[in-house]
Amino acid sequence: MNIEIIPVTSFQQNCSLIWDDNKNAAIIDPGGEAPKLIKRIEALELNLQAILLTHGHLDHVGAAAKLKARFDVPISGPHCADEFLFDSLPQQSRQFGLFEVERFLPDQWLNKEGEKLNIGAFEFEILHLPGHTPGHIGFIEHKFKIAFSGDVLFHGSIGRTDFPQGNHQDLLDSIRNKLFPLQDDMVVIAGHGPYTTIGREKQSNPYLS
Ligand SMILES: [Zn+2]
Ligand SMILES: [Zn+2]
Repeated sequence: MNIEIIPVTSFQQNCSLIWDDNKNAAIIDPGGEAPKLIKRIEALELNLQAILLTHGHLDHVGAAAKLKARFDVPISGPHCADEFLFDSLPQQSRQFGLFEVERFLPDQWLNKEGEKLNIGAFEFEILHLPGHTPGHIGFIEHKFKIAFSGDVLFHGSIGRTDFPQGNHQDLLDSIRNKLFPLQDDMVVIAGHGPYTTIGREKQSNPYLS
């Protein structure tokens, strides 16, 4: 798997651009700075096939509609329990103090636990990880041992639950019951900050001991 992490917006949200050896690509959580992302995809001559979203917060979805317009590819995810966040994108723009984003909806909600999504050489398992938002999902690539899990689990920390419809117990359950059973050497690309592994967080994350 070829991967480039491109931090976007003033929240330094980790947008992930991944591609296989045939340049089939997906972009996960394009939260903003569409021109920069488009330029990078074109410079690498990637065949973008999908825009994947872990949850409906503006700093994760802000450039999705612009990328869809440019590359004519579908937006998949999150779970439909995050629909209220897409409905409130203009308000989120004001709350976060970020750029204006118009309301849009994904082409496909990913509601089925364990559903598989195939893009190029990759197969993602969809896990529902509520808590930070009710419709938060993770994209788990078992063969390449990499998990794109947004704002659920961070290097030495966990996601905030003080946003609308956040739930601290749900977040802990998502981590303990869905992420921690993954392999210890599974790399976790977090929505913000450095990457980590399941084993490392199981051992030393102060919020989960
Ligand atoms: Zn978030
Ligand atoms: Zn975030």
